[in-house]
Order: sequence, then C-alpha cells, then structure tokens
Amino acid sequence: MGPGLRLRRAAVDPRDLTGAGREAKTGGVNNLVRDAFEVLIVVGVGGMLVTAIGRLRRGEIAVVRCVACGRPTSRAYPRCKHCDAEQPEVR
Ligand SMILES: [Zn+2]
Repeated sequence: MGPGLRLRRAAVDPRDLTGAGREAKTGGVNNLVRDAFEVLIVVGVGGMLVTAIGRLRRGEIAVVRCVACGRPTSRAYPRCKHCDAEQPEVR
C-alpha cells in the first residue's frame, strides 16, 4: 500500500466504502423493484415446475402412445417417430 492510496482512502466518504451511500444516490427503490421482480420470477417458474410435475405424477397429462409400437410419441406429429406409423387424431 503506497502513500497515494492511503491519501485517496482518507478522502473517500465512509458511506461509499460500504456502498450504502452510493445505493441511496442511484436509487435504492430501483434495486428493491429489481429484487422483487427476481423473487416473483423465481416463484413463478418454480410454481410452474411444481404444477407440471404434480400433474404428471397424478397422470393428468396423458402420454400419447403409438398405436403400432406402443412407445410414447407426441401429439404434435401425425406419425410415430419410432416406427413411422400414422397416429389417429385424438380430440
Ligand atoms: Zn410407433
């Protein structure tokens, strides 16, 4: 630590060292809003995940199975991705 650094440190407002003074100047409210949004996003994504996993566990999301090979396939595709058999439309 040189003498120049010590001089600069002495000139710094003690509040700036903790960051509290700077936060008040740049808007502590903005930080609070950002933090609140972060919590909301985390809660929202977490809630969606828990809901989806819960529905899967209770069997509310029916797994579409291929009529030909019985393996799970997707409603998004008209044909089975395993055996290419055409799937009857489920409505
Ligand atoms: Zn199939």
